[in-house]
Parts: sequence; structure tokens; C-alpha cells
Amino acid sequence: MSLAMPRWVHGAGRFLLRRRDFVPAYLKTHEQGRLKDKVEEALAHLGPSCRACPRECKGVDRLANQTGVCKVGRHARVASAFPHFGEEDVLRGWNGSGTIFFSWCNLRCVFCQNYETSQIGEGEELDVRQLARVMIRLQEIGCHNINFVTPEHVAPQIVEALPHAIRMGLRLPLVYNTSAFDSLETLRVMDGLVDVYMPDFKLWDEGKSRNYLAASGYPEVARRVIAEMHRQVGELKTDQEGLALRGVLVRHLVMPGCLDDTREISRWLAELSRDTYLNLMDQYYPAWKAKTNPRYAEINRHLHAPEMTEAYRHAQDAGLWRLDERWRQAPVAEAELVELGRR
Ligand code: SF4
Repeated sequence: MSLAMPRWVHGAGRFLLRRRDFVPAYLKTHEQGRLKDKVEEALAHLGPSCRACPRECKGVDRLANQTGVCKVGRHARVASAFPHFGEEDVLRGWNGSGTIFFSWCNLRCVFCQNYETSQIGEGEELDVRQLARVMIRLQEIGCHNINFVTPEHVAPQIVEALPHAIRMGLRLPLVYNTSAFDSLETLRVMDGLVDVYMPDFKLWDEGKSRNYLAASGYPEVARRVIAEMHRQVGELKTDQEGLALRGVLVRHLVMPGCLDDTREISRWLAELSRDTYLNLMDQYYPAWKAKTNPRYAEINRHLHAPEMTEAYRHAQDAGLWRLDERWRQAPVAEAELVELGRR
């Protein structure tokens, strides 16, 4: 088989889906008449006591616009939406991945590289029709997928927007781009709606997770939800042009002094499946509290070059081989910001 994409993408044809055979998961669910029930089920997670994510903020009724740890009430807040050319080649293609960046977050990562959005909450509140309209605009621009960034705390609102987006003509695969601090119950609602799951498995060690993410139990939650994602959609598959259509793409931000976490995460992913598609990300830099608070001095530095070499060695030693790298020519299209709040 001669294909323009690398072998770790197509796996000699094992990981190819014919585009003409592909129907987005949410359209199938809609055609089967199951979407309405999913919307009801998703909204029930918002109140009277929010359990949309593992924080389970007792007594916080988001249906009544109350807010909990994530600071988001009834409606999702969106910081920006645009064709993203910095995503993996299987997502950005040549027209960009249609990213929708949600404001606020259910984690409190002290090194967050998007803290203006996740911790300060820059953005605009959108109702479900406005959110659907943003998806359609990204489709009109030519994006290859809709990529929900930091969706954990607004998954119910995404589900609620889907019938509107379908009515407006949405056809693109949906990418759920998460920190993996998701509720298993929410993920079960997403079963049959999401085409590509993209969890960032951050840390393996419980102590570091408490310290750097302010989330007790993060490693256990991440393992459970990634296993569930894998059960739902399996290994990453693309079309003949190397555009992701279905499956799990795992990210792992390699952090200074945290190579033991990289090793354990790699081993666990290989146990899940040695064909797991993994992007080992090298772009860590000290930001937010990691840059200013002496308590985090050990991560107030860039990665040393040998650390990335060691990270790849851990992944390969574990038996993983679908390790993401750039392989397309850099796209030339200009990124265009989508106007938010357009009715
Ligand atoms: S989604 Fe927000 S309000 Fe709901 S449980 Fe999580 S942090 Fe709390």
C-alpha cells in the first residue's frame, strides 16, 4: 500500500476508514432517535446538584445559574473559535481544526499555559443556538472537525447544542479535547456523540496531581475515563488523506523532572493497547503560578533536551509505536477568528 501519510498513522491499512463509509457518531444517534434522551440525561447532570465532572459540587444548581468550582453556570462561556493550525496533522489537515476554546476549567493546573482563558475566564457566554452557530461557521470556513477544547465542565451544554447544529447542517467529526478529569457518567452520555477523544493524560503520581493540578484522584480518574474512551471508539483511525475520523488520540505534556510519570503513563497506555496513538508534547514552559510561586520552583524551568529523548525511550520501551510527529507541509491558510454570539 502506498499512502502519502506515515505508517504510524495508517498502520498498513489497519487504521484507515473510508470517508464515504463515515457518518459522524452524533448523526447516527440522531437518526436512531436517541439524541433527545441524551440531551435530557446530560442536562440532569447540571442540577439540582452539579455532577458534570468528578468535583461533584454538592448543592450547586447550574440549571438555576449557580456556579461551583469551575465558575460556569447555565451557559457555556467561549474564549475564542478559529481554524487551528497548531494541532496534530491528523486534525489540522490543510484547512485547520475547528477549535472552540471554552472559558474556565475544572482543574487548577499551576503551570497552565492558557491561564487567561482557564483561570481568569476571558470569553463570552453563549446560549446553545449561538454555540451551534459557531460550529457551523467553522464548518463553512472549511475546518476538518469541530474541536471542543476544555469541555469537561460544559459537556451538557455541548450535547444540548447538537440538535440545533444538526438542524443547521453540521456534518463534521467531533473531537473531545480534554484534560481527562471527566465524569464517567458524562462520558457515557457522550457515547455515540463523540468521534475522536483527545485526552491529555498529565500526571501519574497522586501527590504531584494534588500539588500541580489541585485535583485529588486525578490519575485514577484519568485511567478510568481513557479506558472508557477506548471502549467507545477504539484506536485512532483516519481517512485516506490522514484526517482523523474516529478513535482515541492521547496527549501527554512532558514536564520537567516528571519522567517517571511519562514512563508509567506509557506503560499503562501500552497495556490498554500498543496501538494507542500518542503525542508526546515538548512545549512545556513555566507559566502562571509555576513561574512566580517559589513553591513550584522545581517546575520553573524549560525541559532539558535529554528529557524529551528519555520520554520517547519510555514510550518505545513500553511498546508504543504510533508516536505523533509533524508530517504534512505547513498549511498556508490564514486563521480566521469566528465572531462569537452571532445569532
Ligand atoms: S462541572 Fe463545575 S460545578 Fe459541576 S461538578 Fe464540576 S466543577 Fe463543580
